[in-house]
Amino acid sequence: MLDLQNITHHYGKLRAVDALSLRVRPGEVVCLLGPSGCGKSTVLRLAAGLERLQAGAVAIAGSVVADAQAGADMPPEDRGVGMVFQDYALFPHLNVIDNVRFGLAGPMTDRRARAKAALAQVGVADYAAAYPHVLSGGQQQRVALARALAPKPGVMLLDEPFSGLDARLRDQVRDATLHALKNSGAACLLVTHDPDEAMFMADRIAVMREGRIVQLGPPVELYCRPADAFVARFFGEINALSATVARGAAVTPFGAVPSSLPEGSAVDVLIRPEALRLKAANGAASPVARVVAARMLGRSSLIHLAVGDDGGAGDDRPTPLHLHARVPGRFLPAENSLVAVALDLDQTFVFPASSPA
Ligand code: ADP
Repeated sequence: MLDLQNITHHYGKLRAVDALSLRVRPGEVVCLLGPSGCGKSTVLRLAAGLERLQAGAVAIAGSVVADAQAGADMPPEDRGVGMVFQDYALFPHLNVIDNVRFGLAGPMTDRRARAKAALAQVGVADYAAAYPHVLSGGQQQRVALARALAPKPGVMLLDEPFSGLDARLRDQVRDATLHALKNSGAACLLVTHDPDEAMFMADRIAVMREGRIVQLGPPVELYCRPADAFVARFFGEINALSATVARGAAVTPFGAVPSSLPEGSAVDVLIRPEALRLKAANGAASPVARVVAARMLGRSSLIHLAVGDDGGAGDDRPTPLHLHARVPGRFLPAENSLVAVALDLDQTFVFPASSPA
């Protein structure tokens, strides 16, 4: 178990981490997710002991390893944590097996066997005798992971471990990493700015903003029940409409969206592209939109829609809304055709209009 208790960290006057508490259970992968500069790496460095704790406490497996008030700060090598960074940090003058063996204690033959087992676990056993410079980025990252896992740490800390890899390789290494982390039983804290990566890797995601956790929960909860507009927007493109609450609902061109916000208040209605359900408009009763463009993007199609655009002329016409709808598979209605639009309320969120973007 990794337990961060009320940690705060300043760089000069800048408060990079602000009274943050977080527990990671054994066998659990928690992702710290947020935009660049929100304090993710600092949290990881404080947990590792790479940065001196200024306020709060860090406990690992029930023992306090750092306590700012008591002036206690155990060095990183004594904390029982495994670390993986973006730049792998392999020793160039040691071959793969010696890189992995480096941090292990015990008899030589035992260390060799454990290093080999760790390499096999992440699928690079064949490269034991190779030197890092002959390996691809993905192979180097697997070796770095094996090296961190070999001592069987109770806590694994990973800082943007896949960001140096190209997209296709990244998917493979992510997959191997997820399985290796889960097999290890360690409490894992992984830093990323990529929501897709966080959803792929995490049992729970902690979304951070300006040094604080704004929402913590399983990916499905964050995606389907975002706490605020910042979280909703962070998980991908979203359509935003301005609306007003009347009789317990925000009024939109696609119907009423229930909201408990005060009557008459100005709100933003945030609609995920997949929440716009489209059908041919053959005399449909549903509200209608005009297709501006339709593109197949692979697994889904993206339809650009104009709503409230009656095709007429005149300066006093309201500006049509431009919305994006995402439809699974191939769906390519003709440009300028009309489609009926229905809203999936599970993927539609209402927040006060003043919410930060
Ligand atoms: P993230 O990992 O989310 O990108 P960081 O924890 O790296 O965020 O940084 C948080 C804030 O602290 C940023 O504004 C960053 O510029 C600042 N910062 C990070 N490290 C240092 C440092 N060693 N000295 C001064 N400022 C720093």
